[in-house]
Amino acid sequence: MSTYTFFAAAESESACSILKMVAQTTDSRDAKAAYASFYRHACPLVNSLPCRASRFCAITENSYGPPAVVLAANSLAEWHAVGMTALSREALMQALTDGWVRTPCPSFDALCQCGNRTELLCPECARIDAQVLGRVANHTAHCIDYVTRCVHHDTLLECGGAGSRLEALLIHSGSEAAHRNSARYAQFATELTTHSFDSQTAWSEVTRLLAERRYLLDSGRWNLASLRRDFQRFFSSGFEDPRLFHITEGGDYVESAVRKAARGRPIHPTMIVLLAMFGTGADRLPVRLQSARPVAPETTKEQWELEEHRSQWLSTCAQNPNVSRSSIRRLAPAAWAWLYRNDEAWLKRNQAPTIRRHGGRRQKVAPTAVETFVSSTQEDYRASKHGRPPLPSAYQTRLAFGMRDHAFALLSERLGGAGPFAQTPGRKRVFIARREAHALNVVAPGSFAQADTSVARIANLRPETLPAHAKR
Ligand SMILES: [Zn+2]
Repeated sequence: MSTYTFFAAAESESACSILKMVAQTTDSRDAKAAYASFYRHACPLVNSLPCRASRFCAITENSYGPPAVVLAANSLAEWHAVGMTALSREALMQALTDGWVRTPCPSFDALCQCGNRTELLCPECARIDAQVLGRVANHTAHCIDYVTRCVHHDTLLECGGAGSRLEALLIHSGSEAAHRNSARYAQFATELTTHSFDSQTAWSEVTRLLAERRYLLDSGRWNLASLRRDFQRFFSSGFEDPRLFHITEGGDYVESAVRKAARGRPIHPTMIVLLAMFGTGADRLPVRLQSARPVAPETTKEQWELEEHRSQWLSTCAQNPNVSRSSIRRLAPAAWAWLYRNDEAWLKRNQAPTIRRHGGRRQKVAPTAVETFVSSTQEDYRASKHGRPPLPSAYQTRLAFGMRDHAFALLSERLGGAGPFAQTPGRKRVFIARREAHALNVVAPGSFAQADTSVARIANLRPETLPAHAKR
């Protein structure tokens, strides 16, 4: 007989959200310890599980079902298995239930990969949960990588807790086309996760669609150059998450997905969604009639424009040898766009040679979006209670953004400290002086005659810390 009362979970509430509720509403030490450990690492398993499913079920005394049920109903295990073979899927489920090994989920590079999304909220869903359950719950559909909108309410997701601050910072409403792309992405991703599109056949469905459109030839060879170019063009209006735009931008990600599939390795579910969107919507591509049109400048103005853009393009290429095609395109965007529309055949003949690195993995360029958002953030998100200045530690800064260790380490290296509030432990003195000043202000403004112990208590510091660090 259980000594705890486990309150009901919302439909498809994430296991992280359930554990948080259990840790807050019961005395269970196990629940509190598991939640604290999850919070410290800011690194949920499959975006939704705070710990292995068997531990979760032991803590909650199977009140939310056995591990298999929790994995299916309260986690995104199915989402991560979308691009896997039956064998890898089995290994994933095993690892998530009771494994000690790293979960074999495909991932992108650290700064492109999604962080902790377990505390993103749809305001409408939150309102309904508050009415029905009397609390706010987090749903698995909102934890899916790069989803920016609720599939039921079409509202932008918001930050519902410190754990997902970085993810929330990266959600921005953009153009109408970006909204449409993001809403379709959320729709496809949710359908894949909830089986209405059989996950076992997701890749075969994608290859069928792409074979129909001649990207996959009867011989089994891929027309990678066209796939890269058309894929990029199809998503050129962007998404509400800049990382998703980065993934569709270069063509490298789609090529690497195709290569992984050929070797039978798991593909990131996001790539399956994007390829399925591309495969079903590619018919609606602006037909390349314009490019087929031979260039025949009719007026002097057109002739002048043609020469101007061609010479600008050639000189940019000449000034930047050994630079990739996409970088040159970024250096002369206007000339590229004009030539692409009006003189594509000439542009193709005068492209920079493709740079192919031989041996080893092809290096992908990391997105700048994460860096930009973190370094331009003006607000200090680090936890601070009762107005006390927050701790100056990198650990607190990492938690404030809800970032994983590895991603945070990379980012702080690139930014020389993460954001404007990063302070090294060497500034401990400054921090203690600030806390002390604040505490003195609370007990008796302007007075210096307080006992060290009471000042230390208000400053939330150990009594011996004050005399050791501060000179009064
Ligand atoms: Zn909603």
